[in-house]
Amino acid sequence: MGETIRLKCNDCGNSYELGIGHGMADNRLDTVLGYFDEVSAERIRRILPASDKGYRWSYRKMIGYCSSCRSYIEIPTFSIMNNEENTTVAATCRCGNNCMLIDDNDKARMNSLLCPKCNGKMTAEIAGMWD
Ligand SMILES: [Zn+2]
Ligand SMILES: [Zn+2]
Repeated sequence: MGETIRLKCNDCGNSYELGIGHGMADNRLDTVLGYFDEVSAERIRRILPASDKGYRWSYRKMIGYCSSCRSYIEIPTFSIMNNEENTTVAATCRCGNNCMLIDDNDKARMNSLLCPKCNGKMTAEIAGMWD
């Protein structure tokens, strides 16, 4: 199940609702690859070890910040675990920019997000669940 996180600026009221995590249908590789821009999907296909069945992959949407759009957005991320190696590929923003990923489990990080409009402090809260 995924969560919807609401980021709201304490000063100007600017807010974002972002879905993070993954849905119930997101356990199929071809479904998941469809969430990525072409360049990122191609990177994932190249990393996937086609002949080696010893790998596992996981998918989740994370909170990202695009410094070009000056906005918080949902970023699909794909992780491949192969032996001890863990590689994560993140989709780019709609504008093509690579975003900064924000770990929503990192409470200190989540409590220090700033508003792109007025630089005020943002408050993060769970607004709901989705599947
Ligand atoms: Zn603000
Ligand atoms: Zn952007």
